[in-house]
Amino acid sequence: MSADRPEIYDIAIIGAGGAGLTAALYGARARRRTVVFERLITGGQIATTELVENYPGFTEGINGTDFVMNLVAQVERFGAELRYEDVQTITPRQGEPFLVETSEGAYEAHAVIATAGADYNKLGVPGEGEFIGRGVSYCATCDAAFFQGEEVVVVGGGDAAFDEALFTTRYASKVWLVHRRETFRASALLQERVFANPKITVVRNCVVEEITGGEMVEAAELRDVQTGETCTLPVGAVFIFIGQTPNSHLLKGLVEMDEGGHARVDLRMQTKVPGLFVAGDLRTEAARQLVSACGDGATASLAAEAYLAEAGIGEG
Ligand SMILES: Cc1cc2nc3c(=O)[nH]c(=O)nc-3n(C[C@H](O)[C@H](O)[C@H](O)COP(=O)(O)OP(=O)(O)OC[C@H]3O[C@@H](n4cnc5c(N)ncnc54)[C@H](O)[C@@H]3O)c2cc1C
Repeated sequence: MSADRPEIYDIAIIGAGGAGLTAALYGARARRRTVVFERLITGGQIATTELVENYPGFTEGINGTDFVMNLVAQVERFGAELRYEDVQTITPRQGEPFLVETSEGAYEAHAVIATAGADYNKLGVPGEGEFIGRGVSYCATCDAAFFQGEEVVVVGGGDAAFDEALFTTRYASKVWLVHRRETFRASALLQERVFANPKITVVRNCVVEEITGGEMVEAAELRDVQTGETCTLPVGAVFIFIGQTPNSHLLKGLVEMDEGGHARVDLRMQTKVPGLFVAGDLRTEAARQLVSACGDGATASLAAEAYLAEAGIGEG
């Protein structure tokens, strides 16, 4: 870090998920002054996952938190800075470094890699907001243990819902897997495991209309979308996995987006703004896997390095 302009970084990374931390690893190893801003927990989505079985090199899989802790230690070993600050704006300036404004202050960076990932979608039903943290959860891996011996609902039909329903059976006495359609998007292997699990009852063509309770969740009100019939499931928790929305508000008006709000980039993760890269789940056509997010982070960082070198910005 230079003495006269201590706030200028070579590379500022927004988000400390798999993509951001890998970008930081490559940036710091290239001897670039690298900072990662994180508004919540280090590791992003994968930090909430019990077991990652498809990241290459771990024969028996690896716990998400362990993976993140190893990666953070690796990143810090090469000197990247981690700042727990919420990035609020990114401003490109002609002939000047980017201005990055956070909840805590303002920074400058010659290149910016946005890896802000995605947030969980909400059902938008009565009781959902009221009971967040009191039985409504978007992370079974984090919260399932609080519902030992209780019946719970898991909502959704994709990989995350199936994965988390299986995890929840470690604690719950019974899991109601509720999906609004007849068929599921979850992978065939996960479907096989869920259907074979005696603790899970799959409820098709039903939606959760309301979540009720007192201090904690006590029931989920369901409606059959075909017959209109309703029923009440007495449960202690409702775990919701109905997709995610990319955290792309920071990039609005700056870069091109696809219909889903993901940033359009080229194969080097470069946006139309020189020096601004987007990687991981935030970019268009992402595979939304840990390995691809990390790969994107590496690609973006290498491209940022090439951009800095071409711009004649020397090593730190
Ligand atoms: C329950 C679950 C299980 C999964 N299991 C697997 C699996 O087994 N295998 C697999 O390959 N993939 C799995 N995935 C998917 C995988 O975790 C993601 O695809 C990958 O981690 C995405 O990484 P990312 O870095 O792009 O984004 P994220 O992990 O979403 O990280 C983005 C980070 O940016 C931060 N951020 C956002 N906005 C700001 C801001 N304005 N300022 C500062 N920080 C900000 C967020 O807080 C977050 O930490 C799973 C996902 C979930 C939710």
